[in-house]
Amino acid sequence: MKPIRFDNTYARELEGFYAPWPPDTVPAPLLLRLNVSLAEELGLDVGALDAGRTARVFSGNEPPAGATPIAQAYAGHQFGGFSPQLGDGRALVLGEVIDRHGHRRDIALKGSGRTPFSRGGDGKAAVGPVLREYLIGEAMHALGIPTTRALAAVGTGEIVARERPLPGAVLTRVAASHLRVGTFQFFAARGEHDKVRRLADYAIARHGPHLADGPDLPPPPDRYAALLRAVAERQASLLADWMLVGFIHGVMNTDNMSISGETIDYGPCAFMEGYDPQTVFSSIDTGGRYAYGNQPAIAQWNLARFAETLLPLMTKDQAMEVIAAFPSLYEDRWLVSIRAKLGLAIPEAGDAALAKDWLTLLHTQQVDFTLAWRRLADLAGGQPEPLTALFEDTGALHVWLDRYQHRVDAEPGSAVTRAERMRRSSPIYIPRNHRVEEALTAASDHSDLGPFDRLLDVITHPFEERPDHEDYSAPAPLAVTACYQTFCGT
Ligand code: AMP
Ligand code: MG
Repeated sequence: MKPIRFDNTYARELEGFYAPWPPDTVPAPLLLRLNVSLAEELGLDVGALDAGRTARVFSGNEPPAGATPIAQAYAGHQFGGFSPQLGDGRALVLGEVIDRHGHRRDIALKGSGRTPFSRGGDGKAAVGPVLREYLIGEAMHALGIPTTRALAAVGTGEIVARERPLPGAVLTRVAASHLRVGTFQFFAARGEHDKVRRLADYAIARHGPHLADGPDLPPPPDRYAALLRAVAERQASLLADWMLVGFIHGVMNTDNMSISGETIDYGPCAFMEGYDPQTVFSSIDTGGRYAYGNQPAIAQWNLARFAETLLPLMTKDQAMEVIAAFPSLYEDRWLVSIRAKLGLAIPEAGDAALAKDWLTLLHTQQVDFTLAWRRLADLAGGQPEPLTALFEDTGALHVWLDRYQHRVDAEPGSAVTRAERMRRSSPIYIPRNHRVEEALTAASDHSDLGPFDRLLDVITHPFEERPDHEDYSAPAPLAVTACYQTFCGT
């Protein structure tokens, strides 16, 4: 194999922000899955690797030449309480590569053993959560939502001790970077403001605001205010994306919010079925802090924590202005996307109210969020029955549909093209929770990756309705959803 062309700026430029640390050696690395298209995007020469060597490389047994494995330091607010020291307790960034599109990407291992940040943890990961992160990340990517992605999942041949003994695995994760809000908090909490500034400069160079070395980069403090604004814009956009596919992250702690604007750290995440803003699946989120409907407000709260770390670099007014603007940034992004889902091309003043009343209708009747949107597209294309079949009280639906039809009548374009456009922004397949569990159980308990592969195939083509895949679009039985709980899997 040609060596991976690492160029490890974080390790090189930010000494003192991490601990250099080797991965553990595992007894019996076995390649579960390799993400070949992502490998190609990264310019990795995977065709030259046999499965055995791939497993050794991506288990951490034979770190690739040029890797400089590091455990990054970070802190974080977890469920509102501040933990000054978290850090990569079971993950290592191997290094960075420039992908085929010219973007710098981190390649990291997760589940690669204890590090100086492990606290009480064993540093390991189990097959189930590793494959969950693989599946959900690929689903999000296919939905067009910024996300970290899995490059490989390797079984370790070890048993990890959880509520019950489970087979172990290592995930190789690719990310635009692993800079988190919590990374800034780690140094700010120690009063190391010079390090916060260096991190901010690094973030600007790596993620924008686009002008890193250009003549247009404003001098401080505007430069740092521009960084804060860029992060707020990315998060507003990301949150709108999440909300419009019914994604519930489940653990939106500040250490799980990426500066790059990617979805990161798939733990107890899940997709909503019947529309209800109070939906929570995570077993540890007993107060519902990270419920579906709270997510935009939590993102703003997290951004305020980020802004606090930058206060020595900008004026308080600058920080306040960005944080105060977040709700309208989010609403604007949300409105653009929900218009697309409604099939509306020309903005009109009543669109937000029309959309919100639709959601209220779904809420009142607990209609499946994903199917409702998709069947609305069918209606727009001239087939109303699949939509009406989702509602118990079709009277209320028809009241809303009359308004909708009136609104659509003001739009240019044919019904067919509108329906097509709507189907491109509302998936038919999401990773249904019961399907995800089925795939993970088969893989973890029976070493059977068949259900995983079938589900991966479906959710990586989320907009393409396939007649023989109806059981992948169907919601879980109500009784299953009512009891469904997700776990951190740590
Ligand atoms: P998470 O909830 O996965 O975002 O992780 C929160 C913190 O706990 C991070 O510092 C992780 O590195 C750490 N952590 C999670 N699981 C483990 C584990 N099994 N061993 C060591 N550290 C862990
Ligand atoms: Mg995390």
